[in-house]
Amino acid sequence: MNAMTPPPTSASDDISAVGGPGTVSGHRGLQLEEALIFELDRPGHAGVDLPPVPDVPLRLGGLAPRARIGLPDLSEPEVVRHYTRLSQKNYAIDAGIYPLGSCTMKHNPRLNEKMARLPGFADVHPMQPESTVQGALQLIDALAHWLKTLTGMPAVALSPAAGAQGELCGMMAIRAALDHREGGKTARRRVLVPESAHGTNPATAVACGFTVATIPANDRGRVDLEAFKAKLDGDVAAIMLTNPNTCGLFEPDIVEIAQAVHDVGAFFYCDGANFNAIVGRVRPADLGIDAMHINLHKTFSTPHGGGGPGSGPVVLSEPLAPFAPYPYLVHTADSLRLVESAADPTADGRAFGRLKGFHGQMGMFVRALSYMMSHGADGLYQAASDAVLNANYVMARLRDLLPPTFEGPCMHEALFDDRSLKDTGVETLGIAKALIDEGFHPFTVYFPLVVHGAMLIEPTETESKRSLDRFINSLRGLILRAKAGDTAHFDAAPHFTPRRRLDETQAARKPVLRWKQG
Ligand SMILES: *Cc1c(COP(=O)(O)O)cnc(C)c1O
Repeated sequence: MNAMTPPPTSASDDISAVGGPGTVSGHRGLQLEEALIFELDRPGHAGVDLPPVPDVPLRLGGLAPRARIGLPDLSEPEVVRHYTRLSQKNYAIDAGIYPLGSCTMKHNPRLNEKMARLPGFADVHPMQPESTVQGALQLIDALAHWLKTLTGMPAVALSPAAGAQGELCGMMAIRAALDHREGGKTARRRVLVPESAHGTNPATAVACGFTVATIPANDRGRVDLEAFKAKLDGDVAAIMLTNPNTCGLFEPDIVEIAQAVHDVGAFFYCDGANFNAIVGRVRPADLGIDAMHINLHKTFSTPHGGGGPGSGPVVLSEPLAPFAPYPYLVHTADSLRLVESAADPTADGRAFGRLKGFHGQMGMFVRALSYMMSHGADGLYQAASDAVLNANYVMARLRDLLPPTFEGPCMHEALFDDRSLKDTGVETLGIAKALIDEGFHPFTVYFPLVVHGAMLIEPTETESKRSLDRFINSLRGLILRAKAGDTAHFDAAPHFTPRRRLDETQAARKPVLRWKQG
């Protein structure tokens, strides 16, 4: 056992063997220590109580089990309690403010869930005959209509499973369009990416066989237009730009950037992960964008903590649309059908291929469309406006204690850093850990990478003024505490969580992902 292993919770009278922060059990209030379900295993204590199976021949075609497969034996209430306790250790937007910049953790209306659970959507199988899933295809078609209308784009590829795969889809469409135009493999080698970009942007460009040329930011946190123009020539395949950018700022030169990109025959990929700040207010097509992924799980609600599920449809301009991947929907006289491959007689063979099994994340499609239809165009406009207002409120109420990194109003997220704490010995990490003790999920730390000690706060439209005030007041209290010299508090925070400071480097470098019999 190392220091991070929880004390045993299996039946044991030997309470002297367990320790913890001041309690004999290791529990804290109603925060219960919980071992892995495999550690709770008590062979022979399964919840079922059936007589032994009489001697009947197995009908498994010779595939008789050779040994126990190692599933833990527990009674039903033990299993229920185990998973309920685990669920209580999970912080969620349903539990409180979740101000992770860049992630857009917004309230997921329960109506979405109700719709996604309708059996006609929840129980469809991707291999059902098309004639039996016309309703599901109509829903996908309606979602596509909304996405095209909101972005002003003529086409959308719906299959990408998340933002990162959407980027891959968009860049593969761009590469296919360039290959087609140049009658073979494109000679263009470079993709321009601002230095503040999300890591998935350069990774995508490289995965598509391009090299990345980094564009520096100016002192206002925007693309340095002169540096950008100096790197732009006929060797450039595309620019990948995020707008609003990862500093939470609108790129005011975006139309000029698009024009310059098109003038050298390149394409404009926009990382649309921050679409929630502008949805209903600006149509990306009007800015000159050729391809943009939309994180349905950010802009259009739907829960996405813990790594999934996601959905990253990509809208495409006229020149890119023919290169969209299979499958895509087409209207026939009286129904909808999916074109699945080049073997389809209606396909013109320009699709770059297939990105993913089946047709995309059906449950996410339902949630996103439910969100759009229940808000309406005016409601989406309002949600974007309120998200921006909330972020600016946070910025305004903190600025005297914690100066924002860049001057001027922000979009949907407020960016700060720890410069003003320089003399206190407290850094961004200490503030974030101390926030946990105050009952708040920390903001995003150390991203974007271009800002030293970044603190990126995205409240979203979900939070009321009261909830924002509670968060801001706590943060102000912590900053005053840091400035008063209580460095020790921050070095040791969090104080009240079941686990204190974990060795994050060790966890990242040597993750223990499999339980092994001790
Ligand atoms: C979230 C995000 C992505 C990646 O999206 P996933 O759905 O997590 O793959 C890309 N770029 C930016 C700016 C993001 O915030």
